Amino acid sequence: MIRVDNELFNNKKSPVIELHDDLFTKKEIRLFVKRDDLIEPAPSGNKWRKLKYNLVQAKQEGYEKLLTFGGAFSNHIYAVAEAGRRFGFQTIGVIRGERIQPLNPTLQHAENCGMHLLFIDRSTYRLKKDKAFQDQLSQRFGKIYLLPEGGTNQLALQGCSEIVAEVRAQLPDMNINYWLTACGTGGTFAGLVQGLESDEKAIGISVLKGDFMAGEVQQLLDISQHKPQAAWEINTTFHHGGYAKHNPALIEFINTFKTKFDIPLDPIYNGKLFYAIWKMIEADQFPKESNILAVHTGGLQGITGFNERFGGVLV
Ligand SMILES: *Cc1c(COP(=O)(O)O)cnc(C)c1O
Repeated sequence: MIRVDNELFNNKKSPVIELHDDLFTKKEIRLFVKRDDLIEPAPSGNKWRKLKYNLVQAKQEGYEKLLTFGGAFSNHIYAVAEAGRRFGFQTIGVIRGERIQPLNPTLQHAENCGMHLLFIDRSTYRLKKDKAFQDQLSQRFGKIYLLPEGGTNQLALQGCSEIVAEVRAQLPDMNINYWLTACGTGGTFAGLVQGLESDEKAIGISVLKGDFMAGEVQQLLDISQHKPQAAWEINTTFHHGGYAKHNPALIEFINTFKTKFDIPLDPIYNGKLFYAIWKMIEADQFPKESNILAVHTGGLQGITGFNERFGGVLV
């Protein structure tokens, strides 16, 4: 039985908080954080925002099985498995690479939620967008609602654009000038852009190396029905070596941030986002009296696995 119902819509709003730091006083800016890492229900963070309307659509169209793709530490795999458990969908995760025992905490959680894990080699995995490969999966698993890797599609953008309305309701007297978030596929950022007005600006921090992110975001916005009003740009200088790469400066920043503000940051996305924000404030990239809002997109489930691999470097 699929239970996509009121529970899905009456979810408690994630809080918005203000951070205080001598740096902000000196630079005369204010920084707010939308704590989507605390979002309820538990398929947490932006992956929940991206799934929401997909689950509604899957239910409306009579699907009982969700199938998606991801790497072994994927927040998206984790969230889809969790959504399946909560809302009564069967879930299939097509995972890049071999099954390694014991499973890492991400995949173990997915399997505990009832997700069927299908491990495929890296070259087959590259066919994930290929129609013939998807047809093969349909033949094997029956009627499946297909979610792309990372969960980005137009329904995902719709879910993410709701962040803006929530923040406006939570900070009714506050004019936010800059909205920032980390970019993986750019779906969350594109959703955010869609929600903004013409006097606001969105800045996406790419966590991947390369200059393609703005193009990806533009493509997502081009096929959207909703024409964006706000200015936006992608910053490509804070990837720290590339996707899922890290260095001592990033690790130290994340640990200091946790001690100072009691807010954990994942090393893949939000560590890089907040590191970037600090550097940009230090470099006077925001005019005096700017109000800045950062969306903390969650991803905290990955910290345990990260520490297992890299010797417990995160506090
Ligand atoms: C997936 C993810 C992102 C990136 O979202 P996109 O929509 O793919 O750009 C950011 N933060 C966290 C924690 C994520 O899991």
